[in-house]
Amino acid sequence: MKKLITVLCQLLVGGTFLFSGLVKAIDPVGTSLKLGEYLQHFGLVGMADLSAALAWVLALSEFALGLLFFFGQHRKMSLWLGLLIMLFFTPLTLYLALYNPVDDCGCFGDAWVLTNWQTFAKNVVLLLAIVWMLFNRKRIAQWLVEEWFAFYFYAAMIVVAGLCLIGTRRLPYIDFRPYRPGVSMRQLAFGSRAPSASETLYYVIYEKDGVRREFLLDSIPDESAGWEFVDTRIVEPQQSQPAGKTQSLVLFDAEQREVTAEVLGDTGYVFLLLSPDLLTADEHDLDCIDNLYEYAMQEGYAFYCITLNDPAAVGHWRYRTGAEYPMLFADQQEIETMIRSNPGFMLLHDGVILWKSQLSGIDVPVLTSAKLSEQSYGQIQPIHRKKRVFWIIVWLIAPLFLYLPLQFIYKLIKNKNRKMRKKIVAGNWKMNTTLQEGVALAEGLKAALAGKKVNCDVVVCTPFISVASVVKAVEGSVIGVGAEDCSEHEKGAFTGEVAANMVASTGAKYVILGHSERRQYHGENNAILVNKLNQALANGLTPIFCVGEVKEERENGTFKQVIEGQMEALYTLSAEDFAKVVVAYEPVWAIGTGLTATSEQAQEVHAFIRASIAKKYNAAIADNTSILYGGSCKGSNAPELFAQPDIDGGLIGGAALKVDTFMPIIEAWK
Ligand code: PEP
Repeated sequence: MKKLITVLCQLLVGGTFLFSGLVKAIDPVGTSLKLGEYLQHFGLVGMADLSAALAWVLALSEFALGLLFFFGQHRKMSLWLGLLIMLFFTPLTLYLALYNPVDDCGCFGDAWVLTNWQTFAKNVVLLLAIVWMLFNRKRIAQWLVEEWFAFYFYAAMIVVAGLCLIGTRRLPYIDFRPYRPGVSMRQLAFGSRAPSASETLYYVIYEKDGVRREFLLDSIPDESAGWEFVDTRIVEPQQSQPAGKTQSLVLFDAEQREVTAEVLGDTGYVFLLLSPDLLTADEHDLDCIDNLYEYAMQEGYAFYCITLNDPAAVGHWRYRTGAEYPMLFADQQEIETMIRSNPGFMLLHDGVILWKSQLSGIDVPVLTSAKLSEQSYGQIQPIHRKKRVFWIIVWLIAPLFLYLPLQFIYKLIKNKNRKMRKKIVAGNWKMNTTLQEGVALAEGLKAALAGKKVNCDVVVCTPFISVASVVKAVEGSVIGVGAEDCSEHEKGAFTGEVAANMVASTGAKYVILGHSERRQYHGENNAILVNKLNQALANGLTPIFCVGEVKEERENGTFKQVIEGQMEALYTLSAEDFAKVVVAYEPVWAIGTGLTATSEQAQEVHAFIRASIAKKYNAAIADNTSILYGGSCKGSNAPELFAQPDIDGGLIGGAALKVDTFMPIIEAWK
């Protein structure tokens, strides 16, 4: 039951963050406008310039956090981050609910407008869910393995950043606002001032220079100016009542006359150049505006610029651009609702929006090449929102499934590289064999291997006293011999120590260095191991260098840092010397305990080690480095372990002490 509640909390919190990040990313301009409102309310007007960048940061970070929650990754970090965020936003939204400084908090953009109280309630639920998960962290479901998630995370973030880019450079990929192609502007404009049930709207239709326009009765045009009466149109109350949320677009001309009905009543084509603020309008593509204006005049279409009533900005614009078109004024927020670009274009026909676009989205030569009634620019260019939602979902889900074929190809390439590096099965006899027992074991192994096709290098690392005799015993076989350690010193008064050149003088070719038992019982650290590595390499020995974490480090998730730290000793070597080293990953909790790392756990660390080597040196060296697994490796689990793309063999303790148990491990390399 607790598990089920935890998983539901994880999906709820993850899903909410994903949705809220996504809708903000789709409409980053809307998000930055909302942020601007907040900054203004809290007296941070100086930060207004940052609101566009903040909108991106907010959208991407919410989406990223949503991914972490939803897929149960980096639980500790995501939970604490989520908690901090909710501890900040929950009281803030309570304040918004109590004092209403902004109408809606904008947490789901314009996609789903919540009241401030609804937002507060939502945040309380999210906060409680996060607190529950904090106490049930271990129950959080992790749907994907780490690499799969990492791949998906970056792919999904690229999709979301792409949506942000479209919304910033063009118009939102999905328009959440009511001003969409196919929608009647007349209905939107008169919605909030809709006539009462008994009221009917009367339009009169006039014509001038072959252009027909509709006017409300209270704004009949001057017949002496050339307007001729043509017809009337009556709109019954139920027809003029818009469905859903009403809007309030009110347009004034330079003489402060309301001209909304006149402009939207025009039955012909009307170009609207929209700019919420001419001072900050993008001044690229200005020729495009001039060409469209000239074309509109030529063809007898109406052309207006709708902007904020700011004489200084209008003067500046006219001076900068030589604009001659009539300016109409409207509420800045309303213009921002109509279009997200500054400036942008909208084309109406009979009051209905045919299309809207940022300047760069209009193919002016094509548009101006014919009358609007004879080309597609003169028709409604519908935006299929459901289709776009579908494509966003496809783009977000596809990388999840793309991972498997890519991983397959990656494995194929890796396996090709793998063929190039040596596969090794090495025994570590530890302090278990007398001289005679060691020689007998070596002879037994030699006999067992005789005449067999061996698909890997076979090595036995023996106590010092046996090395020379075992070298002799295995002469003429495929078996290589090594020691289990060597001194960090070259020679001298180090009683009991055995120098690397002494090991080499026996004919041995390998030496195990940094085994966890030496790290644990003899205090071997990186400084000592660097000296030992140099001694071994200087004497032509191949170091089998062991790394691995203890149980606690595996459990607290620090094992990769621990291994990276141990690898630092190797990273003191030149690339040329490093290429002579064999690495052995031996999780300490699996050595001699009967506990084996699962093949996935082992592969994860081996891949991590290889990636770390590639980062430190290069991909070719990483691909050529043999990385062995050690820790309760037996004939029964060796095939599965060795089948992993980054496991190149084993370092074997207990099972190397008998020919019968060692041979099946060697034979695992089919
Ligand atoms: C070892 O000590 O290197 C080792 C891997 O031991 P075991 O195989 O017994 O776990």
